[in-house]
Amino acid sequence: MGYDPLLINENQYTTPSIMHELEYETTVSLRFKVAVETGKIILKYPSEKFLKQIVKLASKIGDLLSLSDVDKEVLALALELSERAHSPIIVSDDYSVQNVADQLNIKYVSLTNLGIRYRFHWVLYCSGCHRKFPPTHSQKKCSTCGTTLKRRVDKKTPSRQND
Ligand SMILES: [Zn+2]
Repeated sequence: MGYDPLLINENQYTTPSIMHELEYETTVSLRFKVAVETGKIILKYPSEKFLKQIVKLASKIGDLLSLSDVDKEVLALALELSERAHSPIIVSDDYSVQNVADQLNIKYVSLTNLGIRYRFHWVLYCSGCHRKFPPTHSQKKCSTCGTTLKRRVDKKTPSRQND
């Protein structure tokens, strides 16, 4: 989410299984496809040996159940790359992925640290009757029940820091 492989200069690897997590024909999946086709991202399954090592370690520290198959493969791939004298950095906001990476002394970075922040979409709502109003709504009170309106985050979407 918010990660654009085309804007990254380092070599990027991921597992082909990631495609199961991308929705078909969305901006993200198309961006991913272009990145693969132009060689910006290299698709590679980790060797079985490293996958087993990840499963063993994750179960030991209690993170196994929180990891998806893709998470495990990404961790195994990072481990494999680091044993081949690369210095991988895993991009993930997932706490369990970060935890396992930490145990392996593999660096990780979250999307926030990459400069991807979230843009908040505000909404006015009534705590009395739960009616929602657009943020541009000029009345301070609910037109249905008269309760004073409050403001809260309706949804958040990724935004680049310099937007
Ligand atoms: Zn109301």
